[in-house]
This record gives sequence, C-alpha cells and structure tokens, in this order.
Amino acid sequence: MALRLVKFIKSSLRITINQIFYWSDSKTVLQWIFSKTCLFQTFVANRLSEILEHSRPIEWRHVPGVKNPADECSRGLFPAEIMENDRWLTGPAFLKQEEITWPQPIKLTEPNEDDPEVSATKWVGVLYGPAPENRIRTLLDKYSDYGLAMRVVAWMLRFISNSRLKSAKERNGSSLNVKAIQQASNRCIRSAQLECYPEEMMALEQNRLLKSSSRLLKLSPFIDKVGVLRVGGRLDYGPFPYDVKHPIILPHEHPITRLIVMREHDLLAHPSAERLLSSIRSRFWIIKGRVAIKRYLFKCLICKRHRAMPCIPLMAPLPRHRLAPFQRPFTYVGLDFFGPCNITIYRRKEKRYVLLFTCLNTRAVHLEVTASLDLSSTYLNIFSKTRWL
Ligand SMILES: [Zn+2]
Repeated sequence: MALRLVKFIKSSLRITINQIFYWSDSKTVLQWIFSKTCLFQTFVANRLSEILEHSRPIEWRHVPGVKNPADECSRGLFPAEIMENDRWLTGPAFLKQEEITWPQPIKLTEPNEDDPEVSATKWVGVLYGPAPENRIRTLLDKYSDYGLAMRVVAWMLRFISNSRLKSAKERNGSSLNVKAIQQASNRCIRSAQLECYPEEMMALEQNRLLKSSSRLLKLSPFIDKVGVLRVGGRLDYGPFPYDVKHPIILPHEHPITRLIVMREHDLLAHPSAERLLSSIRSRFWIIKGRVAIKRYLFKCLICKRHRAMPCIPLMAPLPRHRLAPFQRPFTYVGLDFFGPCNITIYRRKEKRYVLLFTCLNTRAVHLEVTASLDLSSTYLNIFSKTRWL
C-alpha cells in the first residue's frame, strides 16, 4: 500500500524527490523485506517482489505501534477523538522533528523457519565432474614440466592403491622409484589414447579389426601388456630396442604430448623441429607429429629469442659523389690500404702494401702495390704513371 501510494505521488508531482522513508510497525514484514536467504509462499513472495523492485530494504524503517497513525484507521476512532488526536490528519509528531529523534532502526533477524509464510528450502543439486579419464587431462593441463607432472600422478596412484588396502600395515609408504614413474607415464598415455581413439582401443581390446576409416589403420596398431597402444610395423626381427620397433602412439593435441615434446626439446637444447621429431620417434609416434611439434616450438620463449631478427637501422642518404651522373670512371674514388703482403723480387722477399681504389659511381676497383704506407710518395707515384686518372 505504501509503495503504491509513493508511486502514485511521484507520478503526480513534478518535483524531484531525493529520499523516501517507508515506515511499518510490523517486525515480521520488515524481516521478510530484509531477508536474504528465505523463500516465501506465493502471495508474500509476489508482494515482496513488488516492494524490492521499486524500493530498497534500507529505506524501510520500524515505527512502534503507539506512534503509528495508521492504527487510527484500523482500530477506529470516534469523531470527537479525531478532533482531539489529529495524528491521523497531520501524521506522527516525530516526523516534524530532527531525524535524530526518529525511532531508531531495530535489529532484524532472518524469519523463523516455522513462519507459515516461509516455504521450506528445497535443495535440488547435481554433482558432476569431468569424466574419469579426463581428470588426468585436466591435471596435466596445469603443468609444464613432464617430470613434475609424472611425480604428481604417481603419488595419486600410490594414494589410490593404498586407500584400497584394508590394513594400514600393507600400505606402501616408500618414496617414488623409477617403476612408479613409469606406471604413471603409462597411465597418462593410456588415458590420452582412450580419450582420443576410443573406438580403436575398444576394437583392439575385443580383438576386432579396425574400421577402414580409422586414422590408425596404416600403423597396424596393437595394445601391449600394460594397455598402451603401439605401432605394429614390420621391424619385429630388427636388432633395435622394443620402443624403436613399436613406438607408442600419441595424439597430437593432448597435454601429455606437449609435456613429452617439451621435455625432449629441453634435453636436446632447443633443436630444430626435424631433429626433435627424429629423436621423439625413437620412442613415440605422434599423429601429425611434424605439425604438432612446430606448434609447440612456436610457443617456446627461448626459440622465439633465437628466431628474432635484429632491427636494421635506417640508412642515411647516399653522398652526392655516389650519384654524380655522366662522369668518367674513377672521377670520385674511395681509398683503402691492406697488407702487408710478401712479394718476391729476384731472390729476396719484401713487404708491400696494396692500395685499393674504389670508383664511387661504378663500384669498379683498382689495386696498386705500394712500398709503404707513406701516402705522399705513394700518391705521387700513382698519379704519375696512371693515365686514366
Ligand atoms: Zn625452444
């Protein structure tokens, strides 16, 4: 009622209203307005929605019942009493005084749960998370170091295996060893293969043929003893290690592939993509490996620094003598010495220097042997015997 009255007054008046106070003697209503957690029955909820849409809770204040002039209407008064007590006509007396004298705000709590207007809270929730095999991907996404990631996975596997044991004495509390790290690596690789090649993995585990459209068909893949997908090939009788004959198949867009590539990249001191691919293929076969490796190397900061080109400074304009047209060669020359060079004269060897003339226009050169770096004598000798100068 108060809210709708304010809306009507605001729409009727042409003056600007800076502040509005709403007064209520009902603590229950004020609790509803100030409540932040409760849900209410439909009727109250609709009223509260309207109130909170057009007013703020802080604008609502409590007035004691004895000072509330609205009681005159609800409880009724005789005409004579109206004339004696004109609060109904003039409003409460405290509003004519300073704001300090107004009724102080009261401390409000959340409505009681047994309030009939409060509807019982109904929690409807769904717990969800990534698929079991994706948890490893989420974990690996957070790491940039292969060794650290494998140790974390190894500790998690250790925790899972220990948790399944009934007796605390049977639990493994030792530090991680190479075997545990290898198991963690195999688990991550199998997880990546199950995520990227689920149909192929299922077909091979059930001893079925791969589909003709499978991307792995040409690799004749098989699953080894630990459940990892490997390349088949025809090198069974070759004198090579098992990993070389049957490298592990890796998808090109998976965090485990990124970690393996970057670890090898660091171990080989940031080599070229081809060198890196050759090294990785001694153990892993990455599908679209060349593209994947180039993509990962492009993000390597150290390689970025190596690829950076120096900034070429802007050259000054050419000197006027370099651009003089219709001049004979060697009209304008640049001079330089180099040497000394050993020259054989009869049976003796002597030091001689070479004076280099460069034509500034045509870039032609002329070499003149000189006995010393003495410019004055050298110039005179040259000028005297050369006819083209
Ligand atoms: Zn690099």
